[in-house]
Amino acid sequence: MLDNEKAILGAICLDPDEALDRINLAADDFTGAHREIYRVMLDLHCQGIKPELVALTNELVRIKKLQEVGGVTYLNELMEFSPTAVNVGYYVKQVREKSQRRKIRGIAEAIQQNADKMPVAEILEKIEATIDGIRGKSEGGPKKISEALLKALNVLEARREHKGQIPGAPTGLTPLDRMLGGIQPSKFYIVAGRPGMGKTALAMDIARHVGKSGKPTLLFSMEMDEAELGERALSSEGKIDNGKMRFGMLEGADFSKLNDAADRLHKSQLWIDDTPVLTASEIRSRAKQIKRKHGIGAVIVDYLQLIDGTGTRYDIVTDASRQLKLLSKEIEAPVIALCQLNRGLENRDDKRPKMADLRESGALEQDADVIMFCYREAIYCDCKGVAECEKNHRRKAQIIIGKHRGGPVGTVNCEYIGEHTTFREAR
Ligand SMILES: [Zn+2]
Repeated sequence: MLDNEKAILGAICLDPDEALDRINLAADDFTGAHREIYRVMLDLHCQGIKPELVALTNELVRIKKLQEVGGVTYLNELMEFSPTAVNVGYYVKQVREKSQRRKIRGIAEAIQQNADKMPVAEILEKIEATIDGIRGKSEGGPKKISEALLKALNVLEARREHKGQIPGAPTGLTPLDRMLGGIQPSKFYIVAGRPGMGKTALAMDIARHVGKSGKPTLLFSMEMDEAELGERALSSEGKIDNGKMRFGMLEGADFSKLNDAADRLHKSQLWIDDTPVLTASEIRSRAKQIKRKHGIGAVIVDYLQLIDGTGTRYDIVTDASRQLKLLSKEIEAPVIALCQLNRGLENRDDKRPKMADLRESGALEQDADVIMFCYREAIYCDCKGVAECEKNHRRKAQIIIGKHRGGPVGTVNCEYIGEHTTFREAR
């Protein structure tokens, strides 16, 4: 068995660049001394140094591990083990399988030991995380910056290819996209506001846009059920008056708009989960399932305070925000959580929400990469009649960016189209 590992290390010594690009193994796929040797080979490779015998020996001397791995004698022995390039694939397969079997035995033991002690949801979450790891996804742990640099360079390269375009997924509101660079992978977004300000509308706008771009968007709607959401989506997508929809007043032209909208939504990759009570672990696990089967473009959670858990409300929201942030990294897609602000802010003259209004909502302020507030002054309207309100502010809406890690904060003025429950650019 060890010979498989030896053969791979031998192949690397023979032709490091060619071999390391083809061998997609992690250090912990190897055992004993081989693990250390492979780790050093990877390190050198990442630094742009060929891990040939001399470099490898020097590095092992430097980190005082040469004797531990069997000394120069052993490294020389490895050289003689070099298989032909054709065979490397075979050895890699053997080593990976062996490593997977070790990890499976490991979780089997851990489950056996904890089956009666830990909460079931937690056990399932652990199993799933481990399975992801066994399937070859990164299991975290410290990494050299080289990997991060490589990723950054790839991102820059991708941006260069799409010069001038925004890097993330569009929200449907160009001024907002310009400010945020779109909704970006691995980032955690909070959309906060008082009820009725349009949080769900903004989330649905984003979901429809990402969904139409062909990437699955998963919306956890704990407040509204599937039917309500479907109706909303049709109204926003087709620009059909939702009042007319509600009262069965649709006429000729509306039906063709309805059909077109349904057709577009049908082709889009919009997924809805309307389970009313979910814990943060359940949300994570369901999102990861979709990711595994279909890939994922974005996850939206409506809304944070409805997430179930144990402890005080503060504890639950804190835990939920941590887990959703983690999820965004795990699935390498944006996670957008809606957050209901409490009525305290309404005692102020200026009822525009600000960062301090999030204080009572756990660690959101620290966890989020971007915090957006929805605000519509017409909600606090004291106009005399519809005409005056229309003139003043009926459609006026603001998306206030209160936090933006690595980018500008500010306010995006736009319009809220109540009859279509959607936002559009200010005209
Ligand atoms: Zn008004």
